[in-house]
Amino acid sequence: MLYSPDPIAAIATAPGRGGVGVIRVSGRRIDAIVHGLIGRPLTPRHAHFARFRAADTGAIDEGLALYFPGPNSFTGEDVLEIQGHGGPVVMNMLLKRCIELGARHAEPGEFSKRAFLNGKLDLAQAEAVADLIDAQSEAAARSALKSLDGAFSLEVRALVDELIQLRMLVEATLDFPEEEIDFLQAADAQGRLLALQTQLAKVLIAASQGRLLREGMHVVLIGQPNVGKSSLMNALAGEEVAIVTDIAGTTRDTVRELIQLQGVPLHVIDTAGLRETDDAVERIGIERTWGAIGKADLALLLVDSRAGVTREDLEILARLPRALPVLRVFNKVDLTGEVPGDVGRDVIHVSAKTGEGLDALRQRLLQQVGWQGEQDGVFIARERHLDAIRRASRHLDAALAAYHRTELFAEELRLGQNALNEITGEFTSDDLLGVIFSRFCIGK
Ligand code: GDP
Ligand code: ZN
Repeated sequence: MLYSPDPIAAIATAPGRGGVGVIRVSGRRIDAIVHGLIGRPLTPRHAHFARFRAADTGAIDEGLALYFPGPNSFTGEDVLEIQGHGGPVVMNMLLKRCIELGARHAEPGEFSKRAFLNGKLDLAQAEAVADLIDAQSEAAARSALKSLDGAFSLEVRALVDELIQLRMLVEATLDFPEEEIDFLQAADAQGRLLALQTQLAKVLIAASQGRLLREGMHVVLIGQPNVGKSSLMNALAGEEVAIVTDIAGTTRDTVRELIQLQGVPLHVIDTAGLRETDDAVERIGIERTWGAIGKADLALLLVDSRAGVTREDLEILARLPRALPVLRVFNKVDLTGEVPGDVGRDVIHVSAKTGEGLDALRQRLLQQVGWQGEQDGVFIARERHLDAIRRASRHLDAALAAYHRTELFAEELRLGQNALNEITGEFTSDDLLGVIFSRFCIGK
């Protein structure tokens, strides 16, 4: 994979105003930029106070400059970081100056992509950089850091190593067709393959947990007006809405997006907007809602305990995908005197007002998506990773089935290894890299 390490520059801090703003420059030769901006060479890895020079004799700003010569830098190239005053105008002037001096605007994720191409990070780690920045809960941030530190990559590498050992064994027997089966038997190839499958299944569970932390669970909320949908969402959010309390949005229920259950983000898909309409824009919104419903983990039917399930509710239920599990939540039990809690058969009694039954509801929701609680072994993961693990597992199954046809056996092992290697990026197409890194924001 070839790329030219031409200097790139970007504002690395979030847009807007802040005490400090950071510009990052990376490239094979950035001396001209350092010289034009600072006017003197910088001692590697030291903080220098400097005035950042304009094209004329004046200055744009003053602040700290740090220089990391490659390969000991984030990207593996020479990197300059300047910390100026964090206003959009100042930052843009500084960036413009870097461009004048020979850098070009970095593409989204280009710093991380270079770090990957220079072997500073593997693909799962580079993705963890983005996931740490995008983390929606503390638990998600902790597990993203684990992936960034390489916990996930190590697990995958261990599996790949074992797979390579096994492949070497099998390839060796291909040269001795007469004795090959005895050979494999003596080396317990089958036992080792089964052990690998077990290990793979474990990694899949850990990765699914990580994917939950990253992507959250998606719940379709059904309920007539006034049954207590908003009240329930607010009660579920409780103290866990720690990040933002006042969110601008078109609907007043946007706050639901920030609900977390044990660090797992809860995304609520509101069915209130699913009514017949002639309005083209509204229809697009409705199509999108149906799209989201197609990927949901669970439907939550909220009813007023005094009225029970209504005909309107049943009509919406009938239009949901058959496979979507439905949990019926009877709210306002404080008014009926019914016993709160999980009463079985996918029915839960709660009171959004008093909070009774809510713990049972939380537990039921987490159980539905298979959350096992934050554990040491949980690292952040993406659907892409799960897909690769599942494919690897299918190849190992096929290998097991082809045990007596050694060439097929060897081929399935090879395909399994390729699938696993996609996770760390050792076997990844340029297209996939493009897709992954283009979703990063600029300056990452
Ligand atoms: P939504 O239209 O479904 O979002 O319903 P709201 O959350 O706005 O609630 C409608 C009304 O029911 C409000 O007056 C709430 O205070 C009340 N309410 C919601 N949950 C409960 C509950 O568990 N018990 C009681 N007694 N009232 C509730
Ligand atoms: Zn509401």
